[in-house]
Amino acid sequence: MQRMYNNIDIKCSNYAKCNKIVKLVDLEKHEYDCTTPNCLNFECCGSKASKIPELSKKTLCSLECELQLNIKKAKNGKEIFELIKKFSETIVALRPAASNINMSNLN
Ligand SMILES: [Zn+2]
Ligand SMILES: [Zn+2]
Repeated sequence: MQRMYNNIDIKCSNYAKCNKIVKLVDLEKHEYDCTTPNCLNFECCGSKASKIPELSKKTLCSLECELQLNIKKAKNGKEIFELIKKFSETIVALRPAASNINMSNLN
């Protein structure tokens, strides 16, 4: 009985856009993927935007991605330095235990 229930076809709540009918058992995961936009830095991180309001309104998955995008837009080394400094301060404020951020992969 449970299996039959899981096999019911349901229209995704985003059906107008995605046109997909999914099994009830897959619906929750599909709707999450379907209604959550990709991170603006998706080509680098491959992630969906975060559900944290601060990040989701910017369509970002993480503060690291925001930093990477800002660095891409920066005009010179001084700006990049300022961005990284601000980022470090934010991270320290948010995550006191994680102050040792590895900056080597931010190029
Ligand atoms: Zn969908
Ligand atoms: Zn990202």
